This record gives sequence, structure tokens and C-alpha cells, in this order.
Amino acid sequence: MATEASETSSSNKRNTTLRERLARADPSLTVPASVAVAELPPGVRISHVMSGSLGERGGILVGEKLVSINGKPIRDTVDFYFHGADDRLTIAMEDAAGNPRKVSIRKETPEDHLGLEVEQFTTQHCGCACVFCFVHQLPDNMRKSLYVKDEDYRLSFLQGSYITGTNLKDSDLERIASQRLSPLYISTHAIDEDVRKYLLGLKKARPIIEVLQFFKKHRIQMHSQIVLCPGVNDGAELDRTLDTLLSFHPTVQSIAIVPLGMTKWRDGLPDLKPVDRTYAKAFLKGLKPRLAAIEKKFGHPIALLADEWYLIAGLKPPSYTRYPDLPQLENGVGMVYHFYKDFAEARKALPAKLPRPWRVAAVTSTLSPPVLEKIIELCHQCEGLRIDVYPTVNTVFGETIHVTGLLTGSDIGKTIKHAPFYDQYLLPGNCLRKYDERFLDDLTLSDLRQQTGKLITPVLGGALDFVETILEQAIGAEHRTPGDHVFLKKHWANS
Ligand code: SF4
Repeated sequence: MATEASETSSSNKRNTTLRERLARADPSLTVPASVAVAELPPGVRISHVMSGSLGERGGILVGEKLVSINGKPIRDTVDFYFHGADDRLTIAMEDAAGNPRKVSIRKETPEDHLGLEVEQFTTQHCGCACVFCFVHQLPDNMRKSLYVKDEDYRLSFLQGSYITGTNLKDSDLERIASQRLSPLYISTHAIDEDVRKYLLGLKKARPIIEVLQFFKKHRIQMHSQIVLCPGVNDGAELDRTLDTLLSFHPTVQSIAIVPLGMTKWRDGLPDLKPVDRTYAKAFLKGLKPRLAAIEKKFGHPIALLADEWYLIAGLKPPSYTRYPDLPQLENGVGMVYHFYKDFAEARKALPAKLPRPWRVAAVTSTLSPPVLEKIIELCHQCEGLRIDVYPTVNTVFGETIHVTGLLTGSDIGKTIKHAPFYDQYLLPGNCLRKYDERFLDDLTLSDLRQQTGKLITPVLGGALDFVETILEQAIGAEHRTPGDHVFLKKHWANS
């Protein structure tokens, strides 16, 4: 939770320049945008050797450098997976002292794998200065990694992160084609090059049409995103962008249109119009016939709107029952639908009555209370369970930031402080980094629990997880008896 002192120190630094803000990112953490990733020197360090694995039997040790496989240079994880898939491998290694040696490994069955892990590669830095870039709009004292502007096609392939493609060199494109790194996730924003360059903050950029043509020729599929800035790439410009992207289907598999987010930390950045309720309503109304026509023509909705549009407009996001594979879920398309996918299981899991009264505060963003209505209505059918929703204003980024993924530990802490009489506090799991449960403002879940002294539990999945996260706490061990609902059955089976 933010102390008074830290809030004051943040506001004192409010006038830091963009240059100062970006200087916080450690340049040694990234490969410069001007460097071709495909031309990086070979050699990756072994970070783990599984016991009894082919790699261990071959004498490979943690800390050694793997230089090539079957004569092919290994520059990173992608090369390692790609060339390591062969049956017969001659691996060129260097030991800790730099002495070279060769290891021969023969796989007996297609299921055999080396049992080796290599160190994560250094990601490539982005060379853009997008007018809506979230990194440019960060206050001080956030999680350190947030200040790194990475843009790396390898991460796009491995993790689905979006890239603009503006730092792709010819050798990178050749590698994408030869290793079939597909699908990739490409931010398009606008097909008109002047509009695109304005949005990307670049004077020069490889035209997006060239990238599209290259991908089409080499059968590399892509998912696209358009960050929509009112008055810049909407209206006729959006029509043109959609027309072109759709003409590249099936190379272009899906197109997500997401509203720009503007924090209160935009000193020195271009003036942009925010997406407010009036704009979102008019935008949805105007685009509806176009989206329906696209769905009819292609048989599925290639162009998709982030749920945030509907929530800002005060409308219900659409259901995707007919299209269960949601390619742009990470972009917020279909999140509400996804949350309710296991609603029937949640209903089954809920007992008719709790053994003791249990009061829950569901802490969420200002946009989300309507999303929780249905699950809370269900939970209130359980005698003894009471849930109140606490929409939390985002004071760290500004009131216009209203999505759950950007809620900070300090704001959540304030909400809990003002509503101290609950047995349990639920949080949306997406405001925490998974592996260390750290909020964007560098506070950890454990810090927050300590500061408030409260039982705080994140909800990581959908409706079922919402119910089970409550039941796991509300039904104390002394009350557990085998019942007829999913949670108790599961608990009993595991105990
Ligand atoms: S591509 Fe644009 S939005 Fe992404 S990190 Fe770079 S400047 Fe920011």
C-alpha cells in the first residue's frame, strides 16, 4: 500500500521528462533495435540438465555453452528447439574455460528429448516512440521490468507478444521464413504509412504492406492489433486498414481493435483524445454493421473488439459461444465470455449453505462491477455467503485507467483499509505477475497481506475459480465433510 511519503515523492517527480523516464530502463537488458537478431553470435548457456536425460548421459553440464547443433549455429532458445528436434545430433560445446568439444547424441524414439534447458535470451529493444506507448506513460517506482520496451519476434512467436515489425532486418525475415516462426503477433495500427509512422513515432519504417506480402509468400500466419486513437486511425482510416488486412486473410488470422489507454503521466507526449463513454458508444454503433458483414463473409469474426470497448460504453460484451477458440484473449477480446465459460461448474460447486457466515469483498477495477453481477447473484444463493463489490479507482495511473490488469497494490490497499470488516478479499489475478505475485507498483501480494493483516486471495481463473477461491477459505478444515459439490468432492479425493 502506498504510504503518504511515497505518494508525495511520486507527485514531486511528476514533471520528469520522457527522456528521464526512459533512462530508467537498463540498456544492457536489451539488444538495440538496430541489430539484426538473426546475426547475433552463436552460443547459449545450459541452465538445467535433467537427471537421467540424454543430455546428462552425453556429459553436458550446467554453465557450459552450446554453440551449434549439426553445424547450425545456436543463437537462442528458438534455434535450440528448432535444431535440437533432429534425431542424430552432433553438438558443439564449450566448457566453462572455453575449451571446445563435441557431443554426439542419438535419439531412440521421436519422444526422446535432450532434457536440457538453455538460458533465456536477451530481448531486442524497440526503436519506436508510439504516441500511446504505456512505457512512456509510467510513473516512478513501478516494477523495473515495466520500463523495458522490448520488441522481439522470438517473444512474439514463443509467447504471443505484439511487435510492430519495424526492427526486422532482412536476415530476421529470412529466419522467420526458414524456421516457420508462425503465427506472429503484429501491431498494424494503420495501413496508411504516414498515419502509421505518426502513431509509431518514427520518421522511417519498413512499410507494413511489405511485411504482409512477405508473410503471405512464406505462409507465416499473423494475428494483428490496432490500437485505436480517436481522430487518428478511426473512421475512413480504420476502414482502409481493415480492408487491407482482410485482403490478406488467411495470412492475417485475426484483427483485434483495442482502445488506447491514457494515464495521467503524459507530460511531453502528443495530445490524444481519450476513449470515453460517448466515443465508445458511437464507435461500437458505427462499426457494428461492418463487423457483422465481415463475420458473414468469412464465416467467423476475424475483426474483433476488446471487451473494454463495451464496458466503457456501459454495454454487455458479446458472447463467443460459436467461436470457442479465442485468438486474442490476451488482448482482452472475449475475456468476459471466457470468465463465464465454466459457470455451470461454478453453480455445481456452490453448496446450498455455508457452515458459518462468510463475508467477502471483491476488489476490482471501476469498469468491472457489471462483469461480476452474474457470479455474485449465484453466490448469494448460498446461505451464509455475502459478497460486496469494491470498484477501486486507479490513482497511480489515473482515473481514466479502469482495467483490472492495471490495478496496483497501493490502490487495492487503500480500498481494503476503507472496508476492513470482511473475512476475505478477492482480487483479479491478472493484476499480479504470476511467478512472483508482484503488482505493477512493485508491491508483492505478501507485502499487501502484511500491511493490511487481511486474508487476500487472487482469482486466477473464471467463475469456477471465483467460487472455489471463496470456498477454500470459507469452509474451515473442521467443517469439511464429503458433500455433493465439486469443491468438497475434489478436496475429499485429494485428502
Ligand atoms: S512498439 Fe510502441 S508501444 Fe510497443 S514498446 Fe515500442 S514504443 Fe511502446
